[in-house]
Amino acid sequence: MNYNNKYFNPEEAFTRQEIESYQLDRLQKTVEHCMNSPFYRERFKKEGLKPSDIKTLDDLRKIPFTTKQDLRDTYPFGIASVPLDQCVRLHSSSGTTGNPTVILHTQKDLQEWANAVARCLWMVGCRPNDVFQNTSGYGMFTGGLGFQYGAELLGMLTVPAAAGNTLRQLKFFTDFGTTVVHAIPSYAARLYEVMQERGIDPRKDTKLRTLVIGAEPHSEDTRRRIEEMLGVKAYNSFGMSEMCGPGVAFECPEQNGMHIWEDYYIVEIVDPDTLEPVPDGEVGELVLTTLKREAMPLLRYRTRDLTRILPGDCPCGRQHKRLDRMKGRSDDMIILKGVNIFPIQIETILMQFKELASDYLITLETKENNDAMTVEVEVADNLSFDDFGKLQNLEREITRQLRDEILITPKVRLVPKGSLPKSEGKAVRVKDLRIKY
Ligand code: AMP
Ligand code: ZN
Repeated sequence: MNYNNKYFNPEEAFTRQEIESYQLDRLQKTVEHCMNSPFYRERFKKEGLKPSDIKTLDDLRKIPFTTKQDLRDTYPFGIASVPLDQCVRLHSSSGTTGNPTVILHTQKDLQEWANAVARCLWMVGCRPNDVFQNTSGYGMFTGGLGFQYGAELLGMLTVPAAAGNTLRQLKFFTDFGTTVVHAIPSYAARLYEVMQERGIDPRKDTKLRTLVIGAEPHSEDTRRRIEEMLGVKAYNSFGMSEMCGPGVAFECPEQNGMHIWEDYYIVEIVDPDTLEPVPDGEVGELVLTTLKREAMPLLRYRTRDLTRILPGDCPCGRQHKRLDRMKGRSDDMIILKGVNIFPIQIETILMQFKELASDYLITLETKENNDAMTVEVEVADNLSFDDFGKLQNLEREITRQLRDEILITPKVRLVPKGSLPKSEGKAVRVKDLRIKY
């Protein structure tokens, strides 16, 4: 099964030329196959477009974008390109507004998905003698079953611990000799907190070596902190339910950008306003076209995630392009007093302060007809609340640095460790209580 010790699949070692000719072939087949979908058939007809019009990779740009709204409008099965009896699983994401979205999978889709996840894990050194513990929610959240099948395909002993119950997670670490853990970044920090409370030293008392963190935006400093706390190497993992789930893009051992598997996806970065492509190195919206999906191929899907392609070659030798750490989603953007702010900008500043722990909450409120932002952040264990002067100075310095970054002045409040609400799934970083007129 393994191509050699470095690569899990031959496709992983493709040159640029091989990637592109593979992509053109798969794109043409995908577009042809999409004509089985009532949604795409109609869309192509409306545009006067035929599958035979796609002669080069550049011709992809003739195809209209697919949006989350399209998925909602055709809920539940209207985009599918195969009859329902060929599908064996669905995942649904509820989102915050409107109809949920549904993604259908055939048996082959699930095999390809597991392969992509296994490839990612193999890339960062996971091997069959590892014990992989997955702290994701199972069920509809794709981080559960997605990693389960990928880790099993690679051959690891896989522990479907699922989310929450931190004491039980720690018991599994020690009892089963867990070496690799998948956790969302906020939960990785929580695991360490509880280890500290219980007097567990992850370096001495566990065999943890590798952490896979993803599913939510996090800064480089957050990653380094988590690595330092748990004594592991932590790799950024990017995916979304619409593209199966995890396994879309993943950091290699260089930890400098996530290789997006271009035998699975065609990647475009576009300006979210003009929808024109931006050059490599510039931030824009990630747009993905699936190349292997049977049940529900998606053409030029607007992910709303903002990132850029890192220019240049990766020293690891893989030629699949690298995505930079996500800057956030276009729909996460806070507009306060006309200024556009991404929560990750705030996190990046906060995590540079050693005196702070990793949990924070941004609250937006209307006070005396004025919109205001409060940033509450937990302090590290070793910072005492008795030294009032020191706390005040720290608050002042954080406020100054935040103002320089986001151009408005938030109210900063330092709060004791453990006092902010914790969620079992993705961390809730923003509470918007503003009065909407
Ligand atoms: P879901 O489909 O519910 O799994 O959510 C997918 C979304 O989670 C993506 O579109 C991103 O906004 C976010 N996401 C997933 N992985 C990462 C990551 N590694 N860094 C930042 N955001 C991520
Ligand atoms: Zn690399």
